[in-house]
Amino acid sequence: MNSQPEPLSFESDVLQTFIFEQSQIRGEIVRLGASWQTILSRKQYPPAIQRHLGEMVAAGALLSATLKFSGTLIIQAQGTGLVRLLVVECTADLGLRATIKLANDVTPETIPSEASLAELINPDGLGKLVITLDPSNRQEGQQAYQGIVPLSLHGQPITSIAQAIIAYMNYSEQLDTKIWLACNHQFAGGILLQKLPQLGGHAPLKKLTEEELDEAWERLPMLVQTVKDAELLSTPPNVLMNRLFTYETDQQTVRSFPLRHLQFSCQCSRMRVGNMLIMLGYDEVTDILEEQQQVETTCDFCGQVYAFDAVDCKQLFIARNLIDGMRPAKGKH
Ligand SMILES: [Zn+2]
Repeated sequence: MNSQPEPLSFESDVLQTFIFEQSQIRGEIVRLGASWQTILSRKQYPPAIQRHLGEMVAAGALLSATLKFSGTLIIQAQGTGLVRLLVVECTADLGLRATIKLANDVTPETIPSEASLAELINPDGLGKLVITLDPSNRQEGQQAYQGIVPLSLHGQPITSIAQAIIAYMNYSEQLDTKIWLACNHQFAGGILLQKLPQLGGHAPLKKLTEEELDEAWERLPMLVQTVKDAELLSTPPNVLMNRLFTYETDQQTVRSFPLRHLQFSCQCSRMRVGNMLIMLGYDEVTDILEEQQQVETTCDFCGQVYAFDAVDCKQLFIARNLIDGMRPAKGKH
């Protein structure tokens, strides 16, 4: 096996974070290449859905960069249209995966390429955006946290993933946030600006007045609005940050943090599938085995196939003392 690590590229699959110190506004720029292409390669995504999924993947990266614990951020758009679910998961160390679920009688080919987000997932206005923070060490008392906002605003269906995320951040998290997202078949990218709660910390270099703070919160988003989708998708995040905010230095100090790398990563494992079979119960599993040679399941996110034959299944249940059989040699408890 080749143990040489892949050379890291600073062009894409990187996230740049920065802060405007005086005005306490933080920013992030992300550009995904290989990780987004890996997601696209695992499933046939209808063109109408690709754009929204890519934008959601970029949003997942932006929101995960602030996770203060080891765990996973999960963004789900749920609804009753042709698409039932768009889901993106991003771990605190920026491992990404994503998938979709279509309605039962729908195939990727039958989805019109010009379908809007509302037609795809929110035809009745009952769709919702769910964001879950799932800590990896739940046994140690950390709770999962979940926030939900409707995929409608003032009675109108929302038209973009960015609009949904902004609504979530403003209403559910109560953090003034602006997000720009873009995607094509090669790259997905995004920019986030967010007002930090005034928590103190080290003293600002020069205290800004309320008017100056409000003015900064108007001016910085206007600078970002000059970025075309093509520029966001073709420019390394650190280069784009410098290009946009170089002239901020007379009144603002832009402090940038080291680039962080992102990659596709799936948390599926044979052990997790085994646990799922145990939850299904021995009788149910035995029924499946009577119809089929083995219980087979494919990971929705990465396409990995897990197969358990009758012997594997029996071992699973014996190992947990759920059916009689030879106990494992060390199984005293
Ligand atoms: Zn997987």
